Amino acid sequence: MKRIYFDHSATTPIDRRVAEVVLEHMTEKFGNASSIHSFGREARKAIDEAREKVAALLNAESNEIFFTSGGTEGDNLALKGVAYANRKKGTHIITSAIEHHAVLHTCEYLEKQGFTVTYLPVDEYGMVRVEDVAKAITDKTILISVMFANNEVGTIQPIKEIGKLAREKGVYFHTDAVQAVGNYPIDVKDMNIDLLTLAGHKFHGPKGVGALYIRRGVRVEAIQHGGGHERNMRAGTENVPGIVGLGKAAEIAQSELNSKMAHISALRDRIIGEVMAKIPHTKLNGHPTQRLPGNANFSFHFIEGESLLLNLDLKGIAASSGSACTSGSLDPSHVLLAMGLTHEVAHGSLRVTLGRGNTKEEVDYFLEVLPAIIQRLRDMSPLYGTSAHTKVSNPCSDCHVHAH
Ligand SMILES: *Cc1c(COP(=O)(O)O)cnc(C)c1O
Repeated sequence: MKRIYFDHSATTPIDRRVAEVVLEHMTEKFGNASSIHSFGREARKAIDEAREKVAALLNAESNEIFFTSGGTEGDNLALKGVAYANRKKGTHIITSAIEHHAVLHTCEYLEKQGFTVTYLPVDEYGMVRVEDVAKAITDKTILISVMFANNEVGTIQPIKEIGKLAREKGVYFHTDAVQAVGNYPIDVKDMNIDLLTLAGHKFHGPKGVGALYIRRGVRVEAIQHGGGHERNMRAGTENVPGIVGLGKAAEIAQSELNSKMAHISALRDRIIGEVMAKIPHTKLNGHPTQRLPGNANFSFHFIEGESLLLNLDLKGIAASSGSACTSGSLDPSHVLLAMGLTHEVAHGSLRVTLGRGNTKEEVDYFLEVLPAIIQRLRDMSPLYGTSAHTKVSNPCSDCHVHAH
């Protein structure tokens, strides 16, 4: 059976052109970038070139790019690093309720360290309101962290406006742009961004490598100590193959951004149009227009998300859901709940995230099999049927314990 990958927000395949340079720097050009000899100099030069490519993608300067082990580390370094370096100025941080756990759990940790955190609500489309950010700022606020684009529903936040507000108030602005980099144009200067997190594996680079952009002059304290790597910001022998691969992925992302956006947004629009037209009792999650080009997210009433995923998987289609029912947790997505969805509706959600390798044929196949799967699952649901359209009490039929 042909397999179809519609889960690019979870991870992406490494581009062959990236894999080639990664292999080269694992085998022939294996030097330690701190070594004086030619092997070391070769590695150092490769890192410098990668730094320039990542900087170019963001319209940053190369000395503002610090390599990390990925998105989670970048978010930790940004939040803890700014918090620790600026705690004499203030101890208040503003973020949103729909951040990735790399930001949310770091904020919860910082609360235990004596910081206070405001978790801003979002509207029904998953959008942070700029006026809510403005209202939350106090003279103790040192950092605002709002993600560029949400990983579940794809909503793109008013980044430039939040950045402008932060700059006016003298507050640092960090954005977790892991989902946006390589999928959407980003200009850290134009958008008033002080810190930005990115991760290689979300845009056809390797896993376990990423970068944090730190605008020149922003005060950040290192959270990992050892050698003087990354100008004392991140100790540890550089992951040269990963960094070189990240640079190559950034270069490709920059040159192919427009064609990629056009290709995947056309496929996404077809999916959204057809699903909303053909499948009743369906809700589109996320903003209708301000969303990532490759993201479609639906809630199908009277459906349990994991059953849907398993049925799609049997047809060779890999997608994901907003709930974590199968991973031992019965909590539905914190993102969908923050957007005002009930537990029941949030449980029946499906995320389809497209990549540049997806084709119209794959989308057609998906649109062919999906309505029948939904109908079959609904026919089996005790909640769906003659008199049932209103009595949605507990559609999570596979769960033995109910948290709600
Ligand atoms: C994937 C992701 C992360 C985590 O990145 P890793 O490289 O997997 O650590 C952080 N934030 C967002 C929005 C993501 O999508």
